Amino acid sequence: MVDSRQLLNLHLDAFLSFAPLLKENVEEWRKNLIEEAAEADTFGELLEAWLWLHPSLVQWPLHLKLWFGLSYHDMAQILNLGERDIAQMLRNYRMSAVAKDLRSESDSTGIGGQSCFMVEQQLSGWLDMELPDFGSLSGLDLHLQGCITCHERLLLYRRVQAEILNARNRFPSVKPEEWEETVRLYKERVRRRWKRLIIYIVAVLTLGGILAGFLWSGPEKMPNIYEIHEP
Ligand SMILES: [Zn+2]
Repeated sequence: MVDSRQLLNLHLDAFLSFAPLLKENVEEWRKNLIEEAAEADTFGELLEAWLWLHPSLVQWPLHLKLWFGLSYHDMAQILNLGERDIAQMLRNYRMSAVAKDLRSESDSTGIGGQSCFMVEQQLSGWLDMELPDFGSLSGLDLHLQGCITCHERLLLYRRVQAEILNARNRFPSVKPEEWEETVRLYKERVRRRWKRLIIYIVAVLTLGGILAGFLWSGPEKMPNIYEIHEP
């Protein structure tokens, strides 16, 4: 059986490092994460539930990938997208992250049998070691060595990667006492909510019963239009 607390602790740093990006309160997130983790059986379930609660996390696809150590396949499963969509998402993210710093604009089309455009299209997947076509890798390598623009792009992509990895913070792991207390308070809150709902339903049913009783007894006293005789 999976220990949900250990499961959360494995990924706690990654989860909580997103709190400042979303301008969220870390302590609040920690408490909510424990509540969600108590109900999840796998890491995938937990991350899916968390993305459901915080959909804007998808604005940081490269952080998600690097901090949680996800493959394109994992990301596609969790975000309910195709692997091509994930590749495109990460490529776009990287391109816009370096756009303002990219200086050289020389076009070295032809080096390694590839155009700069082709290299740019593959570079993000290459860095993620997710390129399906290994045949073109030697051409890519040659191009990156010979082309100033693409080489500069590669260095900038690596810098972005390093910056994201450095931005991952460390947080104290959840100890058994903290886990148990948070889960206990959560269950109590859920129980209270259920009790309130049941009281509400009983009240509605009782009121409905009174109303129905009133309506059932009513028609006898009210004249039926078919029984009204013309004078
Ligand atoms: Zn190039």
